[in-house]
Amino acid sequence: METKKSWAIGVDIGGTTIKCALISEHGDVKGVRRSPTEANLGREKMLNNIKNAINEVLVENELRLHDIEGIGFGTPGLIVDGVLEGNPNLPAWNGTPIAAEMKARFDVPCFVANDVTIATFAEFIYGAGKGAKNLVMFAVGTGIGGGLVINGQLFEGSNGMAGEIGHVTVVPDGRVCGCGQKGCLEAYSSTLAINAMTREYLTSMRGKSSKIYEAVGGDLSKVTPRIVYDCAKEGDEVGLAVNETVCTYLAVAIGGLINTLNPDTIILGGGVMEAGEIIIGNIKKKLPLYSHFMMRERCRLVPALLGENAGVTGCGALVFRNLGRI
Ligand SMILES: [Zn+2]
Repeated sequence: METKKSWAIGVDIGGTTIKCALISEHGDVKGVRRSPTEANLGREKMLNNIKNAINEVLVENELRLHDIEGIGFGTPGLIVDGVLEGNPNLPAWNGTPIAAEMKARFDVPCFVANDVTIATFAEFIYGAGKGAKNLVMFAVGTGIGGGLVINGQLFEGSNGMAGEIGHVTVVPDGRVCGCGQKGCLEAYSSTLAINAMTREYLTSMRGKSSKIYEAVGGDLSKVTPRIVYDCAKEGDEVGLAVNETVCTYLAVAIGGLINTLNPDTIILGGGVMEAGEIIIGNIKKKLPLYSHFMMRERCRLVPALLGENAGVTGCGALVFRNLGRI
């Protein structure tokens, strides 16, 4: 008789897209399916869309509900004791006990965690953090999220909110952050910050001769980190100046975590990190200013490996871990 692979379903719930897939306990990803979240249509509609996405993945892969081990969910925002709280991008979603709602619809084990926590777990089990004992992951995208693994276990804090690295203050009374505080890391090193800082340079005298200005045809709403970094790699002064700021504050935050936790691995992921060595190399150069050499020498700084499938993979891993399978 053929031995059956065991599968879980991973559901990565984003602001605009629900990504759903089958995940094996070895981290294989199968049958990825994307559908709209339609967050603007309210909570019931979102829950219904998620339910349909799961059913379609089952049908497309000729599986029945009892063939899967469970379902894992990842969502942006703070999850306090299983209930989603404080998600400014999905207001209709606030107050939703996602796992409990889904358990009522699908009678299989359901688990939920913050999306960056999930991606960190995926990198720890199957990706760049495989074999690590203590690791910190930075997800540098629209905002900046973080995840922690301590002594080989996901560390979620007393209420499930640990890892909000993006809102650590790096400049007292500095740039305004989306969270309402000033001087957060996210206000200096995220996509939104890169775009804002670049626009400020471009509207100054110095910016007019920048390649970025040319690349967006003078339309500052078209600035993206990809354009900024493509120009920086060609030696553009504005692009390089923005990268200096991005890397300085990431190095400050990473250095603080190295000194606090003595981790063996720091993983850098998220859309901004697609720029690659120009960021990681520069952070490595700056780290000696912000971290103790004995701990820094014993910590590797590496790019994330799993890319866009980290979310769904981690959702599956969450199921297998909670069921004691991995
Ligand atoms: Zn903030």
